[in-house]
Amino acid sequence: MRLDDLDPSKNVRDQGRGGGGGFGGGGGGGLGLLLSFLPMLLGRKLGCGTILLIGGAALAFFYFGGGGLQLADNTGAGGFQPNGSSANVACDTEEELFACQVLASTEQTWERLFAQRGERYRPTTLTFYDQSGQSGCGAAQAAMGPFYCPADQGVYLDTSFFREMSTRLGADGDFAQAYVIAHEVGHHIQNLTGIADQVRNDQRTASKAEGNALQVRMELQADCYAGVWAAQNADRMEPGDVEEGLNAAHAIGDDTLMRGAGQRPVESMFTHGTSEQRKEWLRKGLETGDPAACNSFAEGAV
Ligand SMILES: [Zn+2]
Repeated sequence: MRLDDLDPSKNVRDQGRGGGGGFGGGGGGGLGLLLSFLPMLLGRKLGCGTILLIGGAALAFFYFGGGGLQLADNTGAGGFQPNGSSANVACDTEEELFACQVLASTEQTWERLFAQRGERYRPTTLTFYDQSGQSGCGAAQAAMGPFYCPADQGVYLDTSFFREMSTRLGADGDFAQAYVIAHEVGHHIQNLTGIADQVRNDQRTASKAEGNALQVRMELQADCYAGVWAAQNADRMEPGDVEEGLNAAHAIGDDTLMRGAGQRPVESMFTHGTSEQRKEWLRKGLETGDPAACNSFAEGAV
């Protein structure tokens, strides 16, 4: 995706390393222990309704294992790779800059789409952190993957996630990264439209399985909104972008993640949708460019 002519968004913060504290690198109980946690992690949500991109499971898989797993790849040294970013200076690495430009582009797009309905778009804030940070929904940890916090209407991102996406999940490419950010912005849209509140209310009285099913619809709608954003910027798309996005959507489907972690997929535990569903809803957005096409809550839509 070509975004290099865009000024980075101003709605960004950088907490740097250890903004939150508590959860450092290293340590961890090893893979076996982690895998026994996996079912819980997959179904888990933070108290304030934080929405994680991948339910924490896959990244927990990478990080809870400690430095060992991490360095198996490429660092040759224990612990985490420094990302070269200075604390309190957002958009100062290549990865951050791209994320800042994606955010700027989503602001332009959603401003336009909201204006078409006579409404004003209030942008989200993107906060970078390194390993651990603080959000209005509690501590942010790299293990969680990117997430949206409704309480402070912010997106939280540890850019090391993008390297993990590429090395561990095989989700390569700049558009895969853009899709992740646009998905989180999609959750912000849900917050603005009120659907997020409605779903949280419904979840209070729902069974665990019903609550998860509602969560899946939330996630699929956010995937669709990510596609809408991309379609609205079709002139910036490059050959291969759509494939990168669909490949990423496939890689972070619940069934694929669970299989990758050696688990048998159990539908009632899904919180983000299967690989096929995620691809389907991203594609819906990509093909229509119309937020109205993203009603994953309609009868029989999912
Ligand atoms: Zn999500």
